[in-house]
Amino acid sequence: MKAATLTSPAPMAQQPLRIEDVPRPENTAGHVLLKVRACGVCRTDLHIVEGELPPRREHVIPGHQIVGDIVEGATAELPKGTRVGVSWIGGTDNTCWYCRHAMENLCDSPTFTGYNVDGGYAEYASVRADFVFPLPAELDDLHAAPLLCAGIIGFRSLRVAGTQKNERVGLFGFGASAHLAIEVLHAWNCEVYVATRGESHRKLAESLGAKWVGAETDKPPVQLDRAITFAPSGDVVLAALASLRKGGVVAINAIHLDRIPQFDYDKLLWGERQIRSVTNMTRDDARDFLRLAAEIKLRPKVTHFPLDEANDALLAVKRDAIDGAAVLLP
Ligand SMILES: [Zn+2]
Ligand SMILES: [Zn+2]
Repeated sequence: MKAATLTSPAPMAQQPLRIEDVPRPENTAGHVLLKVRACGVCRTDLHIVEGELPPRREHVIPGHQIVGDIVEGATAELPKGTRVGVSWIGGTDNTCWYCRHAMENLCDSPTFTGYNVDGGYAEYASVRADFVFPLPAELDDLHAAPLLCAGIIGFRSLRVAGTQKNERVGLFGFGASAHLAIEVLHAWNCEVYVATRGESHRKLAESLGAKWVGAETDKPPVQLDRAITFAPSGDVVLAALASLRKGGVVAINAIHLDRIPQFDYDKLLWGERQIRSVTNMTRDDARDFLRLAAEIKLRPKVTHFPLDEANDALLAVKRDAIDGAAVLLP
């Protein structure tokens, strides 16, 4: 099968992914083999390919927003031909303290799709049968793919921030995840304030009904109940923190941050403001979000690339050159 494989992480300018023919994965017990229909490109893929996340194995096929049809390993619940989605959380041990306490997102021995097992930048992928999500017919392949990480993790971020209906919520950064979160927030009747770099991202935020739009570290005109940061930048976290009312929460939706600068506790954090990180996702997050996405007819903005152009797709994500999400088609 054709796949984009990573052997040595390197800056995107060096095109670290090699497009090549590799053996089709052998399907093993407890797994299903998927014929990939589409695979979303996530910023985490960029961190893997460029090496900010340390390599977990010698070769890996990235990609953790997979839409595919079950072609092998079908069961009564998952018959052959079922169209399913796969996300970043590709498996857990089911036995550690976190798994036993309904926090499988924090599992001590997790499997991450496209990181410590092969993912969906390929024609086929073998994935754990208990970590696939049958997709509602309302969501077509191209538009379902970005929901599977960008969408789910954005949704989890809103939950981690404790978002309630009718609140004022800030989105700091406006890429693949944020442009889905804004639609969820509007479904909850929240006012959304967007601070982001890039004129095209600001225009997109306006067109999606943001109440206010500003530059990356601009301060919204009102105090916010919640803020979610999406940029891998600690400066942005501080800008978000500075925009909160007392008792407000910043949820950091980033697997990697450059650093967090020193800041003034008395001014920024005192008053029971909170900074929380958002780590991975649970299967319940995925199911709840996909149900809501179908209900509110969530339709991400997508730009698609052929699998051969996986390097270009990642480079475009890196440069914020895409409005919405990038999706690879095998
Ligand atoms: Zn566990
Ligand atoms: Zn992701």
